[in-house]
Amino acid sequence: MLKLTNTLTGAAEPFTPADGATVRMYTCGPTVHDFAHIGNFRTFVFEDVLRRHLKSKWKILHVMNITDIDDKIIRKSAERGMDIRAYTAPFTAAFFEDSARLRIEKPDVITAATDYIPEMMQLVERLLENGNAYREGNSIYFRISSFPAYGRLSRLDRRELKVGARIDADEYEKEQPNDFVLWKGPKDEAEKAWTASFGVGRPGWHLECSAMAMKCLGETLDIHCGGVDNIFPHHENEIAQSEAVTSKPFARFWLHAEHLLVENEKMSKSKGNFHTLRNLLEKGYRAEAIRYLLLSVQYRKQLNFTMAGLEQAQRSLERIREFLFRLRTARLAPGTTPEVKDAVAAARTQFEAGLDDDLNTAYALAAVFDLIRASNTALDKEQLREDDRTAILSWFSEVDGRLAILPVAEERGAADEEVDQEIESLVKRRNEARRNRDFAASDQIRNELLDRGIVIEDTREGTKWHRK
Ligand SMILES: [Zn+2]
Repeated sequence: MLKLTNTLTGAAEPFTPADGATVRMYTCGPTVHDFAHIGNFRTFVFEDVLRRHLKSKWKILHVMNITDIDDKIIRKSAERGMDIRAYTAPFTAAFFEDSARLRIEKPDVITAATDYIPEMMQLVERLLENGNAYREGNSIYFRISSFPAYGRLSRLDRRELKVGARIDADEYEKEQPNDFVLWKGPKDEAEKAWTASFGVGRPGWHLECSAMAMKCLGETLDIHCGGVDNIFPHHENEIAQSEAVTSKPFARFWLHAEHLLVENEKMSKSKGNFHTLRNLLEKGYRAEAIRYLLLSVQYRKQLNFTMAGLEQAQRSLERIREFLFRLRTARLAPGTTPEVKDAVAAARTQFEAGLDDDLNTAYALAAVFDLIRASNTALDKEQLREDDRTAILSWFSEVDGRLAILPVAEERGAADEEVDQEIESLVKRRNEARRNRDFAASDQIRNELLDRGIVIEDTREGTKWHRK
């Protein structure tokens, strides 16, 4: 049974989709004013693991937005004298490139905020009709005193609420639980604006997510995710706008990924510890190691991202890679060994239990390494058999379906995989030739591989190959 910690209640609760069949999930997507940093990607990788694990149990309808209009985008595009679409398009493309490198699956529906302006206007109209919203100057604000549950998600002390005080910014601190802006009148003529029945302007950031989530998923979502910094004000405001109109719970489960620190410090451009995925790849770190490090700590725990940790992640992946190579190329007797069969079953049980326990990825990963250890011992003792190999490889592909960390499909197409298989079969043939003391044949294969840029090394662990 899957348990997830619901920020609304603070408790780990059993989860099943409301209709028993399809999980309706909304995840707050990137604001495309810059390249996403690894703190952002911690949240996106967590959501990807969640999505993959949910998919192993139910169908899923996963919607993610692209915030392509907000304060920052308006400011930055104006500074460069660019239309907002022209400004945001390259960052949107970069986000999906980065996500693909991290093997983050695409959500089923991707919604750009500027494609849902009519839905946002409708929501504001309803809020005005119900008295939850009011006009001040040329903007429309949400009246938080009209929504008694305001502050429940972020556990604001109700006494902190400043009745009648207003805030215009898309992002603000918890000390400012004020009436927030739903629709902003333009500051100048050049600013991007749309004409609504209640005036010319553009949507506030919080309004965007409520309108798109309800349009695509209905009035009550199963799961809404984001990072902890989204809890206030963003998600608190999403709840207020949505529930004030529908009188239904906006989301049954709220899940939030904790902060990421870099070398024990808050990541910031001024400290020089600010990393985008691109920076790290340019420095020679591998995307698969970055993904591994990001998911190796359970999402609700703070993650300290360090270069030493990244190197450790690279070594962990190397261990998996070496094991899979040894397993695939070993000469095995037919049949199965009960101890190995049991070890595979135990690994599978632990892995599933770990992910079911609020996505405890660290516990799930430990199952992978326990099985590697047990299998290596069995290989050393020549106790691992053909059917054991099949069972282990099949379980590893399940693991990869869930965590997407194994080298089997790393950043490469099917064509590369075929080439690898061909190389491995040549390596096997060469080893057979050597065992039969047919050194002419073995040398010929080695040279053939060398011509293709493949170097073979004979080690205690067996024959390894790498590209020149
Ligand atoms: Zn959002």
